[in-house]
Amino acid sequence: MSTQPYPHLLAPLDLGFTTLRNRVIMGSMHTGLEDRFYHYPKLAAYFRERARGGVGLIVTGGISPNRSGWLLPFGGTLNSLLDIWNHRRLTRAVHEEGGKIALQILHSGRYGYQPLVVSASPVKSPISMFRPRALSERGIMRTIADYVRCARLAKKAGYDGVEIMGSEGYLLNQFLCARTNLRTDRWGGSLENRMRLPVEIVRQVRAALGTDFIIMYRHSLLDLVDGGNTWDDVVTVAKTLQQAGATIINTGVGWHEARVPTIVTSVPRAAFRSLAGRLRKELTIPVVASNRINMPGEAEDILAAGDADLISMARPFLADPDFVGKAASGRADEINTCIACNQACLDHTFANKRASCLVNPRAGYETELVYRKTARPRRVAVVGAGPAGLSAATVAAECGHAVTLFEAGDRVGGQFNYAMRIPGKEEFSETLRYFARRLEITGVRQVLNKRVTRDELLQQGFDDIIVAAGIVPRMPRIDGIDHPKVLSYLDVLKNNVPVGARVAIIGAGGIGFDVSEFLLHDPQVPLPIPLAHWLGEWGVDLESRSNGGLCEPTPETPVRQIFLLQRKTSKLGAALGKTSGWVHRATLLRKGVEMLAGVEYRKIDDQGLHITVGGVPRLLEVDHVIVCAGQDSLTELMPAAPGSSGPRFHLIGGAALAAELDAKRAIREGAELAARL
Ligand code: FAD
Ligand code: NAP
Ligand code: SF4
Repeated sequence: MSTQPYPHLLAPLDLGFTTLRNRVIMGSMHTGLEDRFYHYPKLAAYFRERARGGVGLIVTGGISPNRSGWLLPFGGTLNSLLDIWNHRRLTRAVHEEGGKIALQILHSGRYGYQPLVVSASPVKSPISMFRPRALSERGIMRTIADYVRCARLAKKAGYDGVEIMGSEGYLLNQFLCARTNLRTDRWGGSLENRMRLPVEIVRQVRAALGTDFIIMYRHSLLDLVDGGNTWDDVVTVAKTLQQAGATIINTGVGWHEARVPTIVTSVPRAAFRSLAGRLRKELTIPVVASNRINMPGEAEDILAAGDADLISMARPFLADPDFVGKAASGRADEINTCIACNQACLDHTFANKRASCLVNPRAGYETELVYRKTARPRRVAVVGAGPAGLSAATVAAECGHAVTLFEAGDRVGGQFNYAMRIPGKEEFSETLRYFARRLEITGVRQVLNKRVTRDELLQQGFDDIIVAAGIVPRMPRIDGIDHPKVLSYLDVLKNNVPVGARVAIIGAGGIGFDVSEFLLHDPQVPLPIPLAHWLGEWGVDLESRSNGGLCEPTPETPVRQIFLLQRKTSKLGAALGKTSGWVHRATLLRKGVEMLAGVEYRKIDDQGLHITVGGVPRLLEVDHVIVCAGQDSLTELMPAAPGSSGPRFHLIGGAALAAELDAKRAIREGAELAARL
């Protein structure tokens, strides 16, 4: 029997003409570094770290084969011999570390956010303002030729293969589905006609590049949109792609415009593995499982059960470039796990900002945020073991400083201890597991249950004092705010105070939404939410008998009546993450939460909460009013004025600025400060 911790995951895969060193694919992610040639050295450093960490095959962010396929104007290209020089930097970096790399060719079709967009038919997408032009017969032939040219150039640039992006609702998916393909010529109508474009691309790329080149096709297994394909269609297309010359079938789930979440943290881990398993039985070439797989245990289990030949993980490699190396050396407990928050990766991409990672601020900044060993170790105190303090303490210790971490509570984690109690946010506990282990490894001295004072800190002769003491919840001035029916979110999430059946929540920021979800959870349903229950809530049919896998949802009966309130007149939840906020809103609306904007709070008394909305008085007869009205910084440890002698004081995280604080900023600030101590 193998003594390796993950024998299936770490087994090489012989493709006949080349061998992948293990079954791990780093899936394609747009980092924002691909689009400008002067960012390629940074992109090369980013890929190099992941290849050094042991990934079997890296897939680049999407590169368009032509201008009409750009996601954004002037996106990254590989269209001419001049581009090869830039791409060689990437392939060389990966090959020097023993890895392999494939270029993803992505034509965005009607998802492009630019005026040149084309598609199968002139059907506008709900997520781009530009109506596409239908490709003519000539345009289709030219597009196929562009894919072939791009693949040829990829080979010249040293890529081991290409991934042809056929899922997530991009151009090839648009041709495949009746939802967006209304054509009556030989490229539309029957499935045979609708799949002609992707099949022809694979066939011609194979013919042009010979047999010793990886062609991975990313195929949509479940479209999750009206007018999506059925399972039988999906299988027919995959078999035809196999015949046309695909080496590997990678898999995708859900179009970008789908109203079912497929990768946010509340999606159960490995929710779609069974689809890959069923497809694998129909094909002879390797099949990849993807979506919400973030730890080696799950990945191993999927492979061992025969549900896939390879595992694609994308965001987990932003979170930890050494994922594979740690798994291989029996140190899975040291993995910095992707918590699927999307806050620093996808939300950045959609805001046209460089992608990074909430739990690993070095992602995408490998050449800029460097943790160097110091020649002059300092004695450092860190006050507060929330995300900011944990990040500062572990990076400072990694750099060689002698670090003492003080925490008033009996455990590390700060507010993350409450975040992880929210149904669907269980992943947040992984970050605390990671940091707890990191504290041990880097040798940070931990002093728990100690609300340290400034005098105590000064007496201990530290060189640097990093105040990461976080926040206190804000209590707004409302008549009756001292009434016994008023609770703070900490009363609910930390002190487990029992809450009645009718509840008003003051404040509709991230915490107001989270507390609503916490209170709406039916205690009969176990946590994390079981897959079958989740599929019913969102109306997903994994058998995909019709309509791209959509079916009638079976939502649970709400266990409470909740009113969620804000003073602003804007849509509630507008400030939540671009790629996750809609999921929270949809969940609460499904559970009957009444969302009120433009609220004026008048008083709280035995009757309940008295408000005015749009000038009209209203009484909410509630058992409890829960205050989630933001926070104020806790700065009591800071000296009134900086002294000319004594330790240097630093302020980070919520303690520095409570407004618009999130863990992304807290962790980044901690790491950046510690790296420059
Ligand atoms: P904190 O986490 O508040 O940590 C400060 C620590 O300092 C505390 O542990 C405290 O006990 C300790 N301390 C204070 N004074 C002293 C002292 N004198 N001596 C010793 N110790 C002291 N953020 C996101 O980015 N994404 C989310 O999805 C998200 N969800 C959330 C859900 C909930 C329910 C909550 C409550 C928060 C959520 N947040 C989320 C916010 C995130 O947790 C905070 O932004 C983050 O914790 C701030 O980190 P921090 O280290 O600055 O402060
Ligand atoms: P927040 O997002 O700033 O929201 C505070 C809410 O309280 C707002 O709805 C605000 O709306 C209201 N408010 C502010 N001052 C008030 C006052 N004096 N009286 C009454 N209402 C008041 O803060 P939060 O919800 O406490 O969250 C803290 C941080 O954690 C956030 O920055 C967020 O990024 C992060 N977080 C993120 C997530 C996530 O899913 N990404 C989840 C939880 C927390 P009005 O002013 O319009 O009334
Ligand atoms: Fe994962 Fe969040 Fe990091 Fe994105 S930002 S890689 S979702 S942990």
